[in-house]
Amino acid sequence: MNSESMSSFRVTPWEVEGVVDYKKLLEDFGAYEITGELLSTIKEIAGELHLLLSRRIFYAHRDLDLVLKDYIEGKRFFLYTGIAPSKSTMHLGHITPFILTQWLQEKFKVNAYIMIPDEEKYLAKKTESLRRVDELVNRTILDIIALGFDSDRTFIFKDREYIKHLYTAAVVVARRINWSLVKAVFGFNGETSIGLIFYPALQIVPTLFEKKRCLIPYGIDQDPYFRVQRDVAPKIGYYKTAGIMSKFIPGLEGIDSKMSASKPETAIFLSDDPKVAAKKVMNAFTGGQPTVKEQREKGGNPDICCVFQWFKILFEPSNEALEERYRKCINGEILCGECKIELAQRVEEFLICHQRKVRDAERLKDKFLYDGKLAQRMWNWEFKY
Ligand code: SF4
Repeated sequence: MNSESMSSFRVTPWEVEGVVDYKKLLEDFGAYEITGELLSTIKEIAGELHLLLSRRIFYAHRDLDLVLKDYIEGKRFFLYTGIAPSKSTMHLGHITPFILTQWLQEKFKVNAYIMIPDEEKYLAKKTESLRRVDELVNRTILDIIALGFDSDRTFIFKDREYIKHLYTAAVVVARRINWSLVKAVFGFNGETSIGLIFYPALQIVPTLFEKKRCLIPYGIDQDPYFRVQRDVAPKIGYYKTAGIMSKFIPGLEGIDSKMSASKPETAIFLSDDPKVAAKKVMNAFTGGQPTVKEQREKGGNPDICCVFQWFKILFEPSNEALEERYRKCINGEILCGECKIELAQRVEEFLICHQRKVRDAERLKDKFLYDGKLAQRMWNWEFKY
C-alpha cells in the first residue's frame, strides 16, 4: 500500500504531499525504527557513528540487523543506491543517501552500485524530454563521485547504456510482478505509461548483482520499489533486500516543504553559484518571532526552523554546538539573522569545496563507469537464471 490510506499525507516515489508523519509511515510501510542497539553495533564495527545515523536522519530500516550479523560472520554485504535525473542537477535534498552510502563503503569496505535511471523520470512524465535527462546525467555522475566514493569498489551505470546486462534479470523479475501488485503499491492507473509499469522490475535488478545481502540507503519515499523486491527475490533464490531509510530534508520554505527542482528558490542545487545559494539561505523560513523584542522575550522554535534543521542534517558537525544553538534559540539569546548568516557561510563554503571536487571528478569518471575494478567486472556480469 502507499501511505495515502487513512492519512493526511501522501508519499509515493514521485510525490510527497502534506505533513509527513514519520511514525505512521513506518506502520504503513511495515518498517522499523533503528534501535540504539543497532547503532551501537555499527559504531563498534566502524569505530564511529555518522551524524546522519546518530541524529536519526536515517531513522528506519528493514533487515539492518541481518546485514550486520552477516558482516560479523564474514559473509559481507553490498550497497546499492541511485538517482534519476529529471529537471535539474542534484540538490541538497538528494545527497544524504549518497553521503551515507559512501561512509558505509569506507567503513565496511564493501562494493557500492549506483544506478542512474536515465529513463524513469521521462517515463513518469516528470521531465520535458529525454534530451534534457541526458544533459543532466554527466553532472549528476560527477556530483556523486565528488562525494568520495572508492573508484575500485563502486560501479556507476546508466540504465539505457547498461540495459543489455540488466534486461535478462528484469524479465525474470517482471514475470513475478503482476499488474494488481504494482497498481496497489505505486498507485499506477490507466494514464500511467507502459514503460513506467515495467520500470520497477529494472530497479530491482541491482539487488541481484551479488549473492549477498544488499543494503540500500534511501529516502523513505522510494520504499515501494524495495517492498516489491522483497516479495520477488526469495522466489528466484536471492536475498530480500535490506534498507535504511531517511526522513526528507526540508526545503527553504518551511519544515514541511520539500526542495523542488521546479521551484529553484526552495532548494540549494549542487551547481548553484555559491553566492546565489548563500542569498537563498538568507530567505529561509525560520522558527523565529516576528520582532527582535519578541524573539528576546519568548525565544524561537528550532523544531519548526528550516535553518536549524539544515544545521542538524548537514552543516553542524559538533553536537555541543548544535545543542548550544538549540538552547540559545529557545531562550531568545540568538537572533535568526545571526543563524542565517552562519548557515549561508557554511553552505557557500560547502559548494565551493564540492564544485572543486566535481572538476577533479571529471578525470576519475571512466573508472567508476568502465575501468575501475568493480566496473570492469560488471561489464562482464550476466544474470544466471
Ligand atoms: Fe531558527 Fe536560529 Fe531563528 Fe532559532 S534563532 S528560530 S534556530 S534561525
